[in-house]
Amino acid sequence: MDVLTQNKPISIAIDGPSAAGKSTLARAIAEKYGFLYVDTGAIYRTVGLAVQNAEIEPQDTAAVVALLPSVKIDMVYADVQRMFLNGADVTQEIRTPKSSLYASDVSKIPEVRAFLMDMQRDLARRRDVVMDGRDIGNVVLPDADVKIFLTASAEVRARRRCLELKEKGMEADFDTVLHDIVYRDRQDMERAAAPLKAAEDAVLLDNSEMDFLETVAAACQTIYLKTGR
Ligand code: C5P
Repeated sequence: MDVLTQNKPISIAIDGPSAAGKSTLARAIAEKYGFLYVDTGAIYRTVGLAVQNAEIEPQDTAAVVALLPSVKIDMVYADVQRMFLNGADVTQEIRTPKSSLYASDVSKIPEVRAFLMDMQRDLARRRDVVMDGRDIGNVVLPDADVKIFLTASAEVRARRRCLELKEKGMEADFDTVLHDIVYRDRQDMERAAAPLKAAEDAVLLDNSEMDFLETVAAACQTIYLKTGR
């Protein structure tokens, strides 16, 4: 059935490895189509921060699971998606390289994934969304209208992440950033719970050789082919 004649909201899933440009692409699509941009990595980062604040090792599964009932996460959509942890705005705090590693570690834990599932699905039930993450097309929204798997070589992603960190005034050493990206890729792809993997019906988009506008154009073409929009 043509999605335009359906009553259910439209959902666009963008999955792929760290620093492939998922959030930049998702933001551009959200703006163009008037959809809500849901950044699911930010939710895992918030759990990672809760674990960091509690001085728990992120690999200590039992301690992380025991902490979950006291973790209250709220997402507020204003100009951007703001993340609140137990009432405090942590939107900026969850963006450090250390938070990235904590997020990657805690996201391996099935109980953490289950804890966050409803929050993500509930948004897609109520709104037209473009949602980015690692398991959106395969697990969170298996019936998404459009699925894009966005990727690029690890070196290209590390270069882009370095630029991004420098623009934010943070330190960025290429070798360290590349090492962290390769570490997170491996963890995300090799974990048993919802590993990073392109959905069978996803359109693969490798933007190693593309600039931002070319990436957006390729994604919009896919959206048009799938939804007529
Ligand atoms: O996308 P971002 O880099 O902010 O995500 C942080 C971490 O959260 C990722 O390295 C990944 O391990 C985890 N994540 C996940 N599933 C998602 C989104 C993020 O496991 N849907």
